[in-house]
Amino acid sequence: MGISARASRAKAAVDVVTAFFAKVQAAADDPDALDFTFGNPHEFALPGLVEAIRNQVEPRTVDWYAYRTSEADAQQTIAAGLRTELGLPFAPEDIAMTQGAFGAISLALALLTDAGDEVVIPVPGWFCYEPMLYAADLVPVRAPLAADTFDLDLGAIAAAITPRTRVVIVNSPANPTGRVYPASTWRELADLLERASAEHGRRIWLLSDEPYRRIRFDGVEFASPAAVYPWTLIDYSYGKVLLAPGQRLGYLALSPLIPAEERDVLREALFPLGLAIGWGFPDAVMQYAAPALESVSIDMVELARKRDRLFGALAGAGVELTRPEGTFYLWGRAPGGDGQAFCEALAERGVHFMPGTLFDRPEHFRVSLTATMQTIDRALPELLDVVAGFRA
Ligand code: PLP
Repeated sequence: MGISARASRAKAAVDVVTAFFAKVQAAADDPDALDFTFGNPHEFALPGLVEAIRNQVEPRTVDWYAYRTSEADAQQTIAAGLRTELGLPFAPEDIAMTQGAFGAISLALALLTDAGDEVVIPVPGWFCYEPMLYAADLVPVRAPLAADTFDLDLGAIAAAITPRTRVVIVNSPANPTGRVYPASTWRELADLLERASAEHGRRIWLLSDEPYRRIRFDGVEFASPAAVYPWTLIDYSYGKVLLAPGQRLGYLALSPLIPAEERDVLREALFPLGLAIGWGFPDAVMQYAAPALESVSIDMVELARKRDRLFGALAGAGVELTRPEGTFYLWGRAPGGDGQAFCEALAERGVHFMPGTLFDRPEHFRVSLTATMQTIDRALPELLDVVAGFRA
């Protein structure tokens, strides 16, 4: 008796995250805690965000708060945005509104996979891929990124693919490494997936997880694999760019390059499958606000300043870091090579980083740059002291 085998697997895969979450919650009760863990806001909402939502709260019709599927205005705004950003002719009806990227990923998996299928995921990568795959009765297969650069390692992806592979998940800008992959990487991946699909007589789909797409530094260009591999679905979340992950809105987009017959089948399945997996009705007000939310963004200038301040100080103290090209995370190798020990030593000083164990890289750590500059400045003396202790 008890929970199912797949629930046990999902729970085991997420236990390390929930345990860490509980620990951080407890620490956060301390008003002096310097929190760099999850990508949560630490300041009041971005200018424009509250207004965009508030403008949609007052009902204009009796069914304002009725069940809502994908709202046409939201779909049109997003399709137009994707056409500009990715240069591909996205159609509004190929956009399914969801509750964040979580809902979109679940929908993509429900559309494309059967129980027992294998899904290739990047490591280090987001810590919810594995539990989500287990909960959907799928088998995660880890494809390590290149050891030092965290580039996509095509050899590792090729080695991870078997006749049971159904989906490969990629994530750029990448959590936790901050890497943004160029178009040339996607062309090589597309060739690989074409060859592997032909070899195994089974189409391998690509899920491009792009919630950080608009969070990039130094003019780094964004390329989506959807431009070169037709069998691609894109998931997105507004939670990151709006720095409001609690306001749940995202979408799943079908690539316009998916052959028409297959795209029609997928398009028709978007809503029924949304219902079937329990994510059928995304938030009404957030959808009404979506057109206005297009112009609201996290302050990239301030984010770059915070990245530079922390990067400069840590790199100057001899810590090995990956300079983030995108996302709001900073990823580094713990001095002494033990991420857990490093994070525990910091926590004793009231500074909270995320240990790399959550990303299956125990020698690393992740810092969320959503902490304020003031928090960074307060943390730096403690941080440098702890680093010096580990390097002594
Ligand atoms: N994908 C990645 C890589 C993420 O980092 C996250 C959130 O941290 C998500 C998906 C889920 O995004 P949301 O919580 O906005 O649905």
